[in-house]
Amino acid sequence: MENEILARVNAQEVATLIQELVQIPTRNPPGLEKVGAEFICQRLQQWGIQAALVPEPYEDRPQVWGRVDGGAKEPTLVLNGHMDVVPEGDVTQWTYPPFEGRIANGRVYGRGSSDMKGGLAAMMTTARILNEIRERLRGTLILQFAVGEETAEPGTKRLLLSQGLRGDYGIVLEPTALRVATAEKGLAWFRVTLQGRPVHGSVAEQGINAIDKAMRFISEIKSYNQRISQRAHPLVGCAKCSVTMIQGGTKENVIPESCWVILDRRINPEEQVDTVEDEIRSILGGLASEDHDFRYNLERTTVYDSAEIPTDAFLARVVRKHAARIGGISQEPYGTLFSTDVRNLINDAGMEAITFGPGEPNQPHTFNESIAIDDVVTCIKVLLLTAQELFMGR
Ligand SMILES: [Zn+2]
Repeated sequence: MENEILARVNAQEVATLIQELVQIPTRNPPGLEKVGAEFICQRLQQWGIQAALVPEPYEDRPQVWGRVDGGAKEPTLVLNGHMDVVPEGDVTQWTYPPFEGRIANGRVYGRGSSDMKGGLAAMMTTARILNEIRERLRGTLILQFAVGEETAEPGTKRLLLSQGLRGDYGIVLEPTALRVATAEKGLAWFRVTLQGRPVHGSVAEQGINAIDKAMRFISEIKSYNQRISQRAHPLVGCAKCSVTMIQGGTKENVIPESCWVILDRRINPEEQVDTVEDEIRSILGGLASEDHDFRYNLERTTVYDSAEIPTDAFLARVVRKHAARIGGISQEPYGTLFSTDVRNLINDAGMEAITFGPGEPNQPHTFNESIAIDDVVTCIKVLLLTAQELFMGR
């Protein structure tokens, strides 16, 4: 029976589907997922799969859900992917036009091919095949096609929480080269504004130089970064804090009245973002208590929480086993340094969820982004065998 199911995967059809998805330029920003959402929803419906658009959180940027009901309801497996892609950048840097979806050398080229239209094609094809054999399944498959992943918007979160599209197990199909990731690093961005008092440059000592205050703060951040680098996680490495942007001053001969710096803080699964913010606040508070002219404002602008499940969780073991057998993929525990919506499945919906998908993790957001068709085919086979094990209790 296993071979019978796997024989339903057709590499040519998979390649064409990835190509069709790449040809829809779902750029975000500005948030052009709509045509992609309509395409996915219609295609699922043509295949006889229950599917609908979700006009939430934005009416003009619908999300999509799909569903395959087996003969019994439990357990439920959720497959998640995002439809948006980052902008293509300088088109002249691309060998093939970024939204042509050129197939060459066993790969599909184009913006979003690996991040993550290959993953979407895997989700859709898996659902098509499971739908064909649904009377044999003892469980439910749910598909989530989210908006706004690239810009930290609450697409997946809404599908899980207000649409109730949750389950026992979840797989986010971001590119991991088919490694099973049970942990992911989070990140937070902070904007710290230092305030000064502007005077003419010729009487600098009478003013307060906001850039001087920023330098003082940055040197404290350097030692903070050394301290937190001791916090190492076995799968995602060290916590980090870097100054990534700075701007200050108004004119050559004016002592700067303000200066802001941006901190990029990489958060390990055992850290909490509120605690991290407290740490930065206490550095600022320490500087202010030593120096009455040290005035500041701290703002947290973006957060992607870290997330983690046990490396030996049932779903992780099942997927690892099939990925090793079908694709020769390493079974070593693995975590991602980048953030995915798996944090919403784990932290917000309390699900046992992993990140596992086709495509090399160094492809996203590059010129000439591409994905190997074989990788997507292998992914589909692993998903089918995983569903078979979860739903048919082999
Ligand atoms: Zn992605």
